[in-house]
Amino acid sequence: LAQLFRPLDMLGMVYREIRQGLIDMEAMFGLIDTPTEVSDAPDAVPLAVDGGAVCFEGVDFAYDPERGILHDVDLTIPAGRTLAVVGSSGAGKSTLARLLYRFYEVTGGRITIDGQDIRTVTQASLRANIGIVPQDTVLFNDTIGYNIGYGRDGASQAEIEEAARGASIHDFILSLPKGYETRVGERGLKLSGGEKQRVAIARTLLKNPPILILDEATSALDSRTEAAIQDTLERISQRRTTIVIAHRLSTVVHADEIVVMEAGRVAERGSHAALLEARGHYAEMWARQQAEREAVVEEEEVAA
Ligand code: ATP
Repeated sequence: LAQLFRPLDMLGMVYREIRQGLIDMEAMFGLIDTPTEVSDAPDAVPLAVDGGAVCFEGVDFAYDPERGILHDVDLTIPAGRTLAVVGSSGAGKSTLARLLYRFYEVTGGRITIDGQDIRTVTQASLRANIGIVPQDTVLFNDTIGYNIGYGRDGASQAEIEEAARGASIHDFILSLPKGYETRVGERGLKLSGGEKQRVAIARTLLKNPPILILDEATSALDSRTEAAIQDTLERISQRRTTIVIAHRLSTVVHADEIVVMEAGRVAERGSHAALLEARGHYAEMWARQQAEREAVVEEEEVAA
C-alpha cells in the first residue's frame, strides 16, 4: 500500500508546486521572463509579523548590471498605513513591489518587515503575509467559486461567499445562471475588467494578509466602476500595511504618504495637500489628470 501512496503523495506535491507557481506568476504583474532564482538562506526562519511595518533602506536594484533601475530608495510604511507610489511609466514602481515579494534580490541596501531583513526569512512565510491585487487577474477555466477559493487552500463555501461579499461581487455572482458554479475564463463567461478585479480582491480577502500590494489597473474602467472599486480597495486596506501602485492620482488622495518616483529615485514625497502646495511634479500631474478626468466624465454624460 505504501508503494501505491508514495507516488500519489508525489503527485500531490507536484500539483501544489504548480499551483503555487501559478499564484506567483500572477503576482509577477504579467512579467513573462523568469526571474533569477532567489532561494532561502540556509538558516532562514519564518517571518514573524507584528503589525507588518515595511521599510526600504537605501535600496539599489538592477535587473541587469549594466543598467541601474532603483537608486538609494528609502521608504517607511508604518504598520497598517498606506503608501501610494506614483510616477511615469518605467520609473520603477512595480519593481518596488517585486522586490518586496522577493522575486529579485536587492543589489544594495535592505528591505525589512517588522525589523527583519526579508533575505533572512523563508520565502513561503514572506509570501504568505503579502497579498497582491494585480493589474490583470488570471482566471482559470473553472467555476467562479473555484477562482475565488484558490486564494486559500481548503476555504469553505461560506468563507468564499464572505470574501465575495467583502469584494462586493456576491450579488453579481448570485445573478449568474449557476451562481458560484458558473464557469468563467476563456471557455466560460467572460468577466469585465472590473469584475475580474473584484475576483482578485475576494481572493486576497480569503488570504487575509497583513501586507497588501495593490497594482492599479492601467486599462480604463468607466468612472463609476472605478470609484466603486476604489471604495472596496480602501475598505480592505484599512488596518493592513498597503502599497498602492497608482496610475490615477484620484486614487491616492487619502494615502498616508505619497511617493513620486522618477527614473528610479524618490523625487518627491508627502501628503496630497503638501505635494500640491510644493507645486512640483505631483502638482503638475494632478492638474493634467484633473483636466483629462473632467473631459472623460463629460463624454460619459453625453453618451448616457
Ligand atoms: P509602469 O507604470 O509602466 O508599470 P513602472 O514604474 O512600474 O512602470 P517598472 O515595471 O518597475 O516600471 O520598470 C522599471 C524599469 O525596469 C523599466 O525601465 C523596465 O524596462 C525595466 N524592467 C522591468 N522589468 C524588467 C525585467 N524583467 N528585466 C529587465 N528590465 C526590466
